Amino acid sequence: MSIHRHWILLIPLMLAGCSQGATTISSSVPTSAPPTLAASAPASATSVPTVASAQPAPTQASSSINCTGPAALTPAMTEGPYFKAGSPERASLYVQGMAGTKLAVTGYVLTADCKPIGHALLEFWQADAKGNYDNSGYTLRGHQFTDNTGRYQLTTVVPGLYPGRTEHIHVKVQAPNGPIVTTQLFFPGVAQNQSDSIFNQKLLLAMQNTNDGIAATYNFVITTK
Ligand code: FE
Repeated sequence: MSIHRHWILLIPLMLAGCSQGATTISSSVPTSAPPTLAASAPASATSVPTVASAQPAPTQASSSINCTGPAALTPAMTEGPYFKAGSPERASLYVQGMAGTKLAVTGYVLTADCKPIGHALLEFWQADAKGNYDNSGYTLRGHQFTDNTGRYQLTTVVPGLYPGRTEHIHVKVQAPNGPIVTTQLFFPGVAQNQSDSIFNQKLLLAMQNTNDGIAATYNFVITTK
């Protein structure tokens, strides 16, 4: 997979996402702050000023959240046929020697008014680098919870293509006692994005190369009840 291609195609998206005068707020919320279960998040996303208002700028330190409220809710998307309940709790789905490009995805789970949601559940599942799901075991399947600042970190590999689908990672996100949002994350610059009928650019990762694969970011914006 060509990372250069990713960058060339991603730059206009970044510029679009960064030109809205978004306010950067510190993520160093007091660790004693309770999860924002009672946040009065707007139920409608119609007044959202920009598609990418809650997404981190790629050059931004991961310790801050670039979010302008009201932020667009993360779009829901079909679960697909390969979800399997009972995954282990783990932030890393990567196993030493696993084929494919190593990928670290970090970000926050936020309310529409940009408040971090602590102890939010994230459940990830995906195909391996060859496009195959483990339907008998739990390879590349796992769940985790955000920390007190609403942050998560997933370590995995870039999934492969399989017939009819572009590269994607499935995820379910849920605030404590909130509704489950089932969706998928996509990769910038993949040619098959254009031919995948359910591809949504609002679900694109922001990516950059590192000396250990790819570092990507994505912030989820969900309702808490
Ligand atoms: Fe899939």
